[in-house]
Amino acid sequence: MKEVYFIVIACILLLNQACQSVIGGSDEASNRADAQMQEALAACNNFVCINKALDKQKMLPDEAIIKFDSIFAPLNQYYQSKSLPYYSDTAWAFPVQGYTSKAIGGTPKDKFGFVDNGCGFFDRGINPGHPAYDIFIRDLNNDGFDDRTKKRATVLSMTGGIVIATEPGWKPGDTGRGGRYIWIYDPATKGFLYYAHNEDLFVKPGDIVKPGQAISTLGRTGSNARKERSQTHLHFCYYQYNEHGILKPVKFYNRLVAAKPIPNNDN
Ligand SMILES: [Zn+2]
Repeated sequence: MKEVYFIVIACILLLNQACQSVIGGSDEASNRADAQMQEALAACNNFVCINKALDKQKMLPDEAIIKFDSIFAPLNQYYQSKSLPYYSDTAWAFPVQGYTSKAIGGTPKDKFGFVDNGCGFFDRGINPGHPAYDIFIRDLNNDGFDDRTKKRATVLSMTGGIVIATEPGWKPGDTGRGGRYIWIYDPATKGFLYYAHNEDLFVKPGDIVKPGQAISTLGRTGSNARKERSQTHLHFCYYQYNEHGILKPVKFYNRLVAAKPIPNNDN
């Protein structure tokens, strides 16, 4: 009888120990996940600081290039910790729902509006050109609403990645040209994507997105985009980090053409 009693006690002790190690282990994992999240958010904040300092010419390009290096490791580790797919360009979605590459402004002769004056993310220059594509919606009276659906168009993330910066607070009268913008880092291609002139933002820094995910509604925010004559459009840039530590704007018209169009839900 005594033996049975000892065996039961021993089992209870062992079970208790096993439970505690499981609880301890999960605590450790969640602490690690929290730390990774905090480091990723700090990296997002660094990105915002560098971007704004460059805009105001308060940081030299060389200094920004060195500082920029510190944002990659925490962002890459954070994405990796989520065990998510690394989406290649074959999985990319066209960034305005209900539209195709036919909505991209310009013609082959003017390179579909892409004007690269040799400026990059770091070296903005006095006249940076227009290293971007504008995607226009059907909005003849320029009220910001799609003439066909009577609603605002939905902006979709073209790639997978991490939202690293947003500007939800822009209001008419503010000087920012991008208005309410979103920056997304795509770890699969070391790409930095900039979506400008949004209305309502559905994402915030630290959020993880996949291709085709709704990130905002399209609006007319931005000092020029809000002007009456301006046609409602998404201003869209793709910068790629290269081996020299430079973020260069990429001509990606062909990739936009190849991206999968996502029809409107009610079509
Ligand atoms: Zn533009």
